[in-house]
Amino acid sequence: MSTATRPSGLFVDGDWRAAAGRIPVLDKYSGDVVAEVAEATADDIKDAIGSAHAASGHPLDAGERARVLTGVADLMEAGADRFVDDYVAETGFTTADARNELRRAVSIYRLSAQEAVRIAGEQVPLDATPGSGNRLAFTVRVPVGVVVAIAPFNAPLSTVAHKVGPAIAAGNAVVLKPAEKTPLSALNVVGAFAEAGLPPGFLQLVCAPGSTAGPALLDDDRVRFYTFTGSTAVGRLVSAGAGLARTHLELGSNSVSIVADDARLDDVVRLVATAGFRKAGQVCTSVQRILVVRSRFDELTTALAERVGSLTAGDPRADGTDLGPLIAEPEAERAFSWIERASARVRVGGERHGSVLTPALLGDPAPDSEVLTKEIFAPVVSVVPVHDFDEAITRVNAGPYGLQTGVFTQDLDRAFHAVRSLRVGGVMVNDTSSYHADAMPYGGVKDSGHGVEGPPYAVRDMTDPRIVVLNLR
Ligand code: NAD
Repeated sequence: MSTATRPSGLFVDGDWRAAAGRIPVLDKYSGDVVAEVAEATADDIKDAIGSAHAASGHPLDAGERARVLTGVADLMEAGADRFVDDYVAETGFTTADARNELRRAVSIYRLSAQEAVRIAGEQVPLDATPGSGNRLAFTVRVPVGVVVAIAPFNAPLSTVAHKVGPAIAAGNAVVLKPAEKTPLSALNVVGAFAEAGLPPGFLQLVCAPGSTAGPALLDDDRVRFYTFTGSTAVGRLVSAGAGLARTHLELGSNSVSIVADDARLDDVVRLVATAGFRKAGQVCTSVQRILVVRSRFDELTTALAERVGSLTAGDPRADGTDLGPLIAEPEAERAFSWIERASARVRVGGERHGSVLTPALLGDPAPDSEVLTKEIFAPVVSVVPVHDFDEAITRVNAGPYGLQTGVFTQDLDRAFHAVRSLRVGGVMVNDTSSYHADAMPYGGVKDSGHGVEGPPYAVRDMTDPRIVVLNLR
């Protein structure tokens, strides 16, 4: 879609509005400006919350919510090429990444449509309570009201779907703020909601840098739920500004996959080649650290270096490209400087060409190096030898994050020991930290946040149980 035919990017109360400020959207590979979107002011954002608040007083019925969500999924499939083109331009991710994420987003809206018609309360037995034998009680689940959804740059279709899909399914009204570097995917989705017939007020789109949007979106008593995905640092600000509103915080990680002495290394190598490097490593669950028992360290590092060395970084639209650039050159410079400081340990890759970083594999970096201790969010995987399986578990638990951990072993008892011992939101046995199916409960603990996504779980969290008690004669 050309800039001329694209809606403004500010959508409030069912209308695309103009704004004085514009946010340029760059093609992350070429650096060209591919679009401009309206930059919402604090007043625009307050209007958007007001519009959502007014709509939330008249919730849509479940059938209509399901019809709209199904319509959005159908429109996204029908308009796949436009979604993919904009996504590749604004993220720099490959066309294959774009098609994969679009397929996931479509399925999240369909799952949300199914949940919309399943929301139900439960009967509450009161006859065991003295003096309440004549009472009949049940709950009805009611929408929380206004949901603010704040999304990161690195999954502009699926994170938006995991927020807006369940929020609408649950009967709420939403204010969506996408990342300022990748607003076009959200703009296209909001267009699909409008075309699918979502009545005015139930979904607004505001684009603005977090520093201006944050103060307007937070500390507003009309908002009852903040669903945020992004860095741990910003997650802390959202938590502090949410007041009494509930939150889902899906935050950062420096995820681990643990490799035991009996692991099938072919599987590890094949899975890590994708899970450490797709989207140029800019995935919250990306494999950043592999903790492998020392007896398998050399074998694994050699096999991985060969596989990682065969990956191609460059033009995300070219056939055969496995990963494109990082989201911005300063991010590539930062990751490169971390690699440089651990340079003695580079086994393959780690060169920088502008914002493209060649996939890097590091062997046994220093325990306090940034490549191990911080979230790198770049195509850089470190392999670290450990004395035994328990040391790996201790190391995972000693870190601040707790998103997902992969565990490669053929020993069921050992796998279950890891399940019981790891303080994380998910344990993937014989898979990497990066496995994610959209219907499953997904979320972190510790500095990786709290609250569980996945339409069945998010819909429940985005409703309140209202107890009804009938005092019968
Ligand atoms: P970010 O924290 O910089 O930004 C996320 C969103 O917050 C953006 O929309 C941004 O504009 C907004 N924001 C920034 N400052 C704000 C403020 N003061 N108040 C309110 N909103 C503000 O994150 P990013 O760089 O876009 O995304 C990468 C991060 O997201 C990584 O840490 C990654 O691990 C994390 N992430 C986590 C998950 C998960 O499921 N746990 C998924 C994807 C990404």
